[in-house]
Amino acid sequence: MNVLVLNCGSSSLKFQIIQTDLQIIEKNADKQLAKGLIERIGSQALVTLQATGKSPVKHAAPLRDHKAALDHIIKWIISEEAQIPGIQSLHDIHAIGHRVVHGAERFTNSTLIDDSVIRGIEDCIDLAPLHNPANLKGITASREVFGAGIPQAVVFDTSFHSTMPETSFLYAIPYQLYRRHKIRRYGFHGTSHRYVAYRYRQLTGKSREETNIITVHLGNGCSACAIKSGASFDTSMGLSPLEGLVMGTRCGDIDPAVLEFLSHKEGMSMNEIDTLLNKQSGLLGISGLTNDMRDLLAEAREHQDRRATLAINMFTQRVKKYIGSYLAEMNGADAIVFTGGIGENSVIVRQRICANLEWLGIEIDEQLNSEKVGGHEGEINKKDARMKVFVIPTNEELLIARDTVRCVLSAPQPK
Ligand code: ADP
Repeated sequence: MNVLVLNCGSSSLKFQIIQTDLQIIEKNADKQLAKGLIERIGSQALVTLQATGKSPVKHAAPLRDHKAALDHIIKWIISEEAQIPGIQSLHDIHAIGHRVVHGAERFTNSTLIDDSVIRGIEDCIDLAPLHNPANLKGITASREVFGAGIPQAVVFDTSFHSTMPETSFLYAIPYQLYRRHKIRRYGFHGTSHRYVAYRYRQLTGKSREETNIITVHLGNGCSACAIKSGASFDTSMGLSPLEGLVMGTRCGDIDPAVLEFLSHKEGMSMNEIDTLLNKQSGLLGISGLTNDMRDLLAEAREHQDRRATLAINMFTQRVKKYIGSYLAEMNGADAIVFTGGIGENSVIVRQRICANLEWLGIEIDEQLNSEKVGGHEGEINKKDARMKVFVIPTNEELLIARDTVRCVLSAPQPK
C-alpha cells in the first residue's frame, strides 16, 4: 500500500509517501518513496520536493491555502519530473494518514476519518487552539482533493499517553475542574515515544511487558516519557506542549505565579504572556540569541558566550532532573533512549545529560557516543554499565503510515 502521510502546521505542510503493508511491517521493510515540505502557505510559499534517492527540488510558488499546497504536491507526485517508482497517477496512492496533535480523552487510538471523527477533532480545538485547526485544514483539503474513494486515517500525538495513571495525569487543582473541563496532563510527541520504544524492543529482543525505559525526545519541542511495561506511565508535556523540559522557544516548567506577576509588573495580557512563554522563552529567551541548539553550541564553543552556555546548561540540567524523577517513580529503568534532532545528533548534549550519573549505572562510552549521529542507531553506554543508553532516530511518519494501514485493514495497533 502506498500511504501519503500529511503533517500540517498553520502555514506549512510536510509530507511523505511510504510503501508499507502488514507483511512489510512484520519484516520492517517499509520504503519511503518521496518526501517534501511547503512553508509559508498563504503567500509566496517555499517548496521542497524530493523523490527518494534523487536530489531535492526547491522553488517558490504562490499557494494561498492548504488545498492549493496539496494540489501542488499532487501535481508533482504524478509528474514525469518526480518519477516516483510505482506512482503514475493518483490511483497509486492507496491511503492517507494525518498527524493530529490533540485527541484529548476521546481518541486513544489512531482511527479512520469520518464526519464524527472530524467533529471530535474540532471538539479538541479548545485544548490545542494553535495545532488542531491547522491539522484540520490538511484533513479538509485532502478530503476535497481525494474524495471519498481513498481511506484516510488520523494518528494523534496524545494517544500513546492515554495509559498514564491518574496520579500522573491529574494536576493538583480542585478535582471538579478535571470533571468539568478535562484539565489534565495529556502529553505529546506520543508517536515519537511509541516509535522509539518499538525500535528499542526490536534492538534488544525485549517484550512489551519487559520494556521499562525513559525516552527523551529533544528537538525544537522537547519531552521525556517514563515507559513502564511498554506503556506511557508519565510524561513531561501537559495540557499543552508548554510544560516540562526547556525547549527551543518554550519555557517548560514554571511557577504559575509568574504569570500573575508578569501581568502585574509588565501590564501584559494573557495572550501576550502565552506568546512570551511559548515563542520567546526557552533556549532563545535565556541566550537572547537563538532557539537552535547547534548555533548555541557553536556560540558557546567559539565565543564563550555566557548566556549561550547558561541556556545549554539549563537545558541539560532539566533533562537530568526528569530522568532522575522518572527513575524514582518507576523504581528504576533498563535504558534511556535519546531521539529528536538534538537527541540524535548532539554528542555533547547527550554527554552532559549523562555526566556524573555513574552512581545510577549510567556511563557513556565516548567513542560510541561520537559515532551515533546523523541517523545512526544503537547503544552508547560502556559495555559493563548497569543501564543502557541508546540513540534511536525517530520516525513519526513511518508510524503514521503503519497505523493508517492498520486502520484500513482493521488490524490491531500495537502500542
Ligand atoms: P522539530 O522538533 O522541529 O522536528 P528537530 O527534531 O529537527 O526539530 O530538532 C531541531 C533541533 O535539533 C535544533 O535545535 C537543531 O539545532 C538541533 N540539531 C540538529 N542537528 C544538531 C547537531 N548536530 N548538534 C546539535 N543540535 C542539533
